[in-house]
Amino acid sequence: MSPPFAQELFSWYRGNRANLPWRRQPSPYRVWLSEVMLQQTQVETVIPYYERFVRVYPTIEALAASSLDDVLKLWEGLGYYSRARNLHRAAGIVVNERAGNMPSTVEELLKLPGIGRYTAGAIASIAFGRAAAVLDGNVIRVFTRLLDMRDDISQAATQEKLWRLADEWLPAQDTGEYNQALMELGQRVCRAKRPLCRACPIQAHCRAWAAGTQNNLPWRAKRRPRPHYDVTAGLIRGADDRLLIAQRPLDGLLGGLWEFPGGKVEKGERLIDCLKRELREELAIDVAVGERFAVVDHAFTHFKITLYAFNCRYQGALPPYDEPQALGVRDWAWVAEAQLSNYSFGKADRVVIAELARRRTMLL
Ligand code: SF4
Repeated sequence: MSPPFAQELFSWYRGNRANLPWRRQPSPYRVWLSEVMLQQTQVETVIPYYERFVRVYPTIEALAASSLDDVLKLWEGLGYYSRARNLHRAAGIVVNERAGNMPSTVEELLKLPGIGRYTAGAIASIAFGRAAAVLDGNVIRVFTRLLDMRDDISQAATQEKLWRLADEWLPAQDTGEYNQALMELGQRVCRAKRPLCRACPIQAHCRAWAAGTQNNLPWRAKRRPRPHYDVTAGLIRGADDRLLIAQRPLDGLLGGLWEFPGGKVEKGERLIDCLKRELREELAIDVAVGERFAVVDHAFTHFKITLYAFNCRYQGALPPYDEPQALGVRDWAWVAEAQLSNYSFGKADRVVIAELARRRTMLL
């Protein structure tokens, strides 16, 4: 059943839709890539990443044939790196098990790594014209305001209620266009802060506008404050002044990215003791810890960290080894400072690298 505002929404979208790169030459692969990149990320941030990505990997076959390291390097700075790992893995599955053909139904799409209910609905409707609903932050905002719905959107029951509504309101035709119109309306008009209600094409249907409650919706119970952790890292210099870097295990936070080795400070532990312990446990090495080089604050979705980076001098591997061991890391490498840019690092380590470059320039 079409929603009561369908006509106004379609005519607004057809006259105002943004000229986005993934809407030119759309293909299932490009729709999928754009939808994955757009998860938790602003359109303006995604555009240059998307354009670079399709230049390097124009087809799903090209992506499947690449190395994960290269994909992560291209993704560097976009965040939520599990998206890149899953995209790479799913491309391999589509190429090897489906002769390069993307699945077209929600049920089949959901079987691919990294594709959840929202992304499956978006690909099925936009790339294949299937009758599939989408529910992202933009759509939730539009729906809760249209209905002046005051339920807590962090609750699973509210999410289910909204999914039911999304299914119920799905028009019989042009579902891909309808889904894009709804999301774009949420992004550009029904904005989280200062919604443009006076210019809104579906204002006549909006209960929140009528009640003046739009700025308080959607409603979500207060989140608990994010925990904070202190983390140490070593700028470990060895022969020729090269730096020892380590690759994080694939599963988990920043999986597959490189880092200056170190780890989380335990309760009551001194920073330097933490660093030496982590290096013993993860790489089986001993270092002489020098002065503190940089302190970086960084926020992840569910916690915050303060990273303390120390200058260190490599003292050698712990017996019986004669070189570092990948005990708690995926890999390790000695690299010249100028070569660090060939590896993908998380945000906090990139701040440390920028500081290294700044000090090097000051010395010239
Ligand atoms: Fe959103 Fe305002 Fe339009 Fe209602 S009238 S849908 S609150 S922009």
